[in-house]
Amino acid sequence: MKIPFLSFTGQHDPIRAEILAAMARVYDSHWYVLGEEVKQFEQEYAAFNSVAYVLGVATGLDALHLSLRALGIGPGDEVLVPSNTYIASWLAISYVGATIVPVEPRLLTANMDPDKLRMAITGRSRAIMPVHLYGQACEMKAIMEVAHQYQLAVVEDNAQAQGATYQDKLTGSFGHMNATSFYPGKNLGALGDAGAITTNDRSLAQHLTKLRNYGSGQKYHNELVGYNSRLDELQAAVLRVKLPYLACWTEQRQQVAAWYSKILMDVADLVLPQIAPGSTHVYHVYVVRSTRRDALQQYLAEKGIETLIHYPIPPHLQPAYQALGFHEGQFPIAEELARTSLSLPLWPGMTFEQVTFICACIKQFFATTH
Ligand SMILES: *Cc1c(COP(=O)(O)O)cnc(C)c1O
Repeated sequence: MKIPFLSFTGQHDPIRAEILAAMARVYDSHWYVLGEEVKQFEQEYAAFNSVAYVLGVATGLDALHLSLRALGIGPGDEVLVPSNTYIASWLAISYVGATIVPVEPRLLTANMDPDKLRMAITGRSRAIMPVHLYGQACEMKAIMEVAHQYQLAVVEDNAQAQGATYQDKLTGSFGHMNATSFYPGKNLGALGDAGAITTNDRSLAQHLTKLRNYGSGQKYHNELVGYNSRLDELQAAVLRVKLPYLACWTEQRQQVAAWYSKILMDVADLVLPQIAPGSTHVYHVYVVRSTRRDALQQYLAEKGIETLIHYPIPPHLQPAYQALGFHEGQFPIAEELARTSLSLPLWPGMTFEQVTFICACIKQFFATTH
């Protein structure tokens, strides 16, 4: 049995005709940038995410960057961000010239530790960027309390957690400006790059419509030094087809995760995903941990099972951030996660047989190798 890390078959095959019809509709409309499809998708995604405003942009990274930009965060300001996130969260902070202040996660959830967050605050702190990593909602009540107490802006990085909740409230609806990504492999994926900002703030939303479109509210009138970062009509039309299926795909992800967790429960050498009280998890990825991660990954590869590591090198040890002067050992939890984490195959439509085969191979590994 060959098992890829991710397959689109379960999602895309049943809706092929619907997607192609939507693409044909855009083709025939002769209007390809900032038109009806984007407008409709923004309204539909706002309803899905229970926010007042959605702004489609070109990528998830742009959504993070433009959120910080719209909030006026810049040089001299400190932004608190997880030490164990995908590099995009850090890059957005670099783009606006602000200072990156890494905050360590809880080892068991890999999400931001609100106590460590509080300890990292200084007189220069301006914003918190919680990342709902792997698809699990951060402990947003405690994080928002810290934000209110110190009057900090909150920009959620919701790229991996569309539809997740904390105490029944959706991720992407807590912060002032929140970013999400529709990169193809995300839980809601386009057929190329795409992203969006979710917010309840009317004036920030209005500012964003200009910022993403050359700083222009009216054609050829440029009020700001803006950007060209727009969700295009074709991707918006595809996302409109896929959005109504997202809840069903999330259930399938959660089912696959439940199978893994049940079958692997008794493997002593493996740490399974843990969910914080009040959080839900939409399993963008199913991440296990083992001190023998590399050998396990190799063993599974020999059995035809593809796995990935999210992420093998924490941002503070990336060459790109060498100039910040961080050193090995400075963020030990992020480093431990990088050393031990392994993401198992998971996608909507994955079968029980595939999951049991993978689990059997994992158990074989721990029973037969040392
Ligand atoms: C994917 C991702 C992003 C960036 O999204 P792009 O659309 O690829 O730019 C940002 N943050 C996290 C946590 C992500 O997983």
